[in-house]
Order: sequence, then C-alpha cells, then structure tokens
Amino acid sequence: MSASSALRLPSIDGLLRHPACLPLLDRYGREALLSRLRQLLDELRSDVLSGQLSAVEISPEVLAGRVSERLAQQQRSNVRRVFNLTGTVLHTNLGRALLPDEAIDAVQMAARYPLNLEFDLASGKRGDRDDLIEGLIRELTGAEAVTVVNNNAAAVLLTLNSLGARKEGIISRGELIEIGGAFRIPDIMARAGVRLHEVGTTNRTHAKDYEAAISPRSGLIMRVHASNYRIEGFTASVPTAELAELAHRHGLPLLEDLGSGSLLDLTRWGLPAEPTVRQALLDGADIVTFSGDKLLGGPQAGLIVGRKELIAKIKKNPLKRALRVDKLTLAALEAVLGLYRDPDRLAERLPSLRLLTRPQADIFAQAARLQPAMAQVLGEPWQVSAVQALGMIGSGSQPVARLPSAALCLRPQVSKRLRGRCLLNLEAALRALPIPVLGRIDDDALWLDLRQLDDESAWLAQLPHLQVAQ
Ligand SMILES: *Cc1c(COP(=O)(O)O)cnc(C)c1O
Repeated sequence: MSASSALRLPSIDGLLRHPACLPLLDRYGREALLSRLRQLLDELRSDVLSGQLSAVEISPEVLAGRVSERLAQQQRSNVRRVFNLTGTVLHTNLGRALLPDEAIDAVQMAARYPLNLEFDLASGKRGDRDDLIEGLIRELTGAEAVTVVNNNAAAVLLTLNSLGARKEGIISRGELIEIGGAFRIPDIMARAGVRLHEVGTTNRTHAKDYEAAISPRSGLIMRVHASNYRIEGFTASVPTAELAELAHRHGLPLLEDLGSGSLLDLTRWGLPAEPTVRQALLDGADIVTFSGDKLLGGPQAGLIVGRKELIAKIKKNPLKRALRVDKLTLAALEAVLGLYRDPDRLAERLPSLRLLTRPQADIFAQAARLQPAMAQVLGEPWQVSAVQALGMIGSGSQPVARLPSAALCLRPQVSKRLRGRCLLNLEAALRALPIPVLGRIDDDALWLDLRQLDDESAWLAQLPHLQVAQ
C-alpha cells in the first residue's frame, strides 16, 4: 500500500465530538450538522481513495470549516432585502410599495396576537373581515360598499365572474391589454366565464360602438385603465361619465379597472395626474377595482368598491373565499388607509409618496456626496460621476412620465468591445453584495438611481466588499 492510500477520512462520530465541530452543533443542531458532514465526506471519499487529498485537507478543522460555510449558506433566507436603485419606484419584481411604520406595527400586532378578524366585538357574534376596513374605504372614496381580495388581478376576475358569467362583457379594443405576468384582459374574461364582446378599434372607440353591441346577451360594460402603455395621436375613447350613462340606460353595470387607482389627486404633489377612485365613482362607474400596493402605497391587495347590491353579489361568490386577504394584509391596509385622513402629512408618512416626491436637488446632492466613495472602490478602470437621471413610477402607472432624479453613473474606461462584459461583471458584483444593489444598464453605463437610497450608511458600509471580476 502506498502512503497516500493509507489516508482515511475521520469518522462521523469522531467529527461530531471534535472541538472544531462543537460550536456548529450548538448553533445548527445535530440533525443539520450530521447531514452536511455526511454529504461532505461522501463527496471526498473517492478523492481520498485515489490519493488526491493531503492529510491537512481532510483534517477535522478543515472539514469543520467547510461544513460551517455550507450550514451558513443554508441558513440564509431566500427572501432578501435589496437596494432598489433601478429608478423605478413601484417595482413589481422588487415588492412594489414599502409600508409606513404605522402599517409595520399593525402587521406585528396581527402576527403576534389573536385578533377580531371575523368577530364583531360589539355584538359578540361572527363578523366579516371586510368590515375592518369598509368604513375607512367608504370615507376615502365615497363608495357605498367595499370588499377586498388578494390583488387587483383577483379583484377583476372575481368581479367579472360575479356580474358577467355566461353573459357578454363589452369592452373597447383599445383596452384589451396585457399587464405583465400573463394578466391579459381577454384571458381573464374567458376564465371568469364572460364572453368577450370587443368594440371599436385599437385607437378609436365611440359611444355608438358600445351602443351597437348591446343586446339581451349583454351582462356588463368594462373599462380598463391602459396602465402600462399609451396610444397617442388620432385617438378617441368614451369618458366614464358618458359610458356610465349609456350603460345605465340599458340596465347594465359599468366596471372600471383603474389599476393603480389613486385615492387622492397626485398633482397636488407635482406628480402626473392619475384618475382617482372617487372621481370614477362620481362619474357613475358601478364597480371600481384597484391595487393596494401601487400608488396607494400599501400591502398587496385588490380593492373592489362600488354599489351596495353589486358588492353583495360579489361577496356571495364562492370564489371570494378562495381569493380573500389574510389578517396581516388587512392590518397593514387599515393602517395605510388611516394615513390618508391627513393628506397634508401623507407625503412625509407614506414611504412610496415620500420617495416619489423626493426633490431632484436632494437626490443630486446625495449622488455628489457618494461619488468619491464609489470612485475609490472601483478605481482606475471606471469613471464615476454624479449625474441627473430620469426614473419612473412603475407598476404601470404613467408609463411615459419620467421622474427627474439623480444617479451615480458608472462607465467602464475600456475599449468598446469589452464594455458589455465589464458592465455585466459589475452588475453581478453589486448583486453579490451582502445587501444586493440593483441598478440598470443603459447607454454603455451602469446607473444607480439614488431616489430610493434611504439607508446610506448601510450602503456605504458594504462597498468595501465589492469584488468585480476582470
Ligand atoms: C396592475 C394592474 C392590474 C393587476 O393588479 P395586481 O394588483 O398587480 O394584481 C390589473 N389591471 C390594471 C389596469 C393594472 O394596472
């Protein structure tokens, strides 16, 4: 036998008792440590037999170190905080709206203690979870009644199915949109059991088009906010008020899917105008649906508001039970809605509105402040500058509107041929930081839009960990 083949892996039992493994046993428990040790020894066995490993490489200390890394990796949660420096504020892939402290406190309370989710404390009888937020939503929108579901896609599906199943839903061809993530109005209508009756053209639809489509088979008229795209130029659509009048003349309900659905006129904060829920109802929409985590700035939810008898019908649909919201969402939603009672302080208290309205000068000053640190970390091959930039609201709100912002613009000082690779390497390195930093690549540079960089010290503290592959 040769000397190398005389090497033997330590035994599992020996390792478990070894001082190098004791802290791991303490921290992760016997079960987890055992399975990782077994896995590692299995992987090493053939290399030991073929003499490819030295005695040091299979010493208990080294093995414990390797297992420790794996256990730490396994322990790290998959749900991770990131820095959203993409310039898109309500980023669907990054969790949309950030909750205010009031909502976070409410979620904690709801998570920690039993609560009156479906229990009427006044009468001691069974209650309805919608009652917890109905009063507030009625007050803020002027609606007669309210119900809440998991998201706005669910709100649209449930409303269509409740009010239009086996009948025709009349909708303009200009509003047969795809929101993203496979939410397409024609498909949702089909799944809801509503027969699509499209009218007009992509760019122009008139009242007479709707009128001509109405028959005894009609169940409802629907309007969808075009959200993430714009038709410009030679266009025509029928205003909600006129469409509502037409629908009611024929005894049909008008549904309006507002998408973002703002509760207040955003122009008071210098933001682009978005239709408000209150206005849609005033104009005569019978049911209005909108998201909780877009412009409203709350948790993911779909709000359905409107006429009392229609809401009652929607609530009776068995699908409502399948699409309902949980207690954490309701707690957060109530807290967020409560802030709307004081519009004067809303922009200070609601993070999404605070971020959307952050002045460009303020963001630029931050970019200028952080530029030296970034330049130092990246060194020679990168030009780092504080520049003005344009961001967007996101989540389909105002797709063409741009928010004047500021960014760190990171430009590789290499030949054109190498630029793409350089940028991708930097992007990957930023993603690999303890708190991943997400920017966007555009015009041969990587842009870090700082509108949403609240926690500047955490961002700076991890910069020294940045390791860009060459
Ligand atoms: C965003 C949006 C939806 C989907 O809302 P979610 O809350 O993301 O489910 C539906 N309709 C319109 C018009 C939208 O903009």
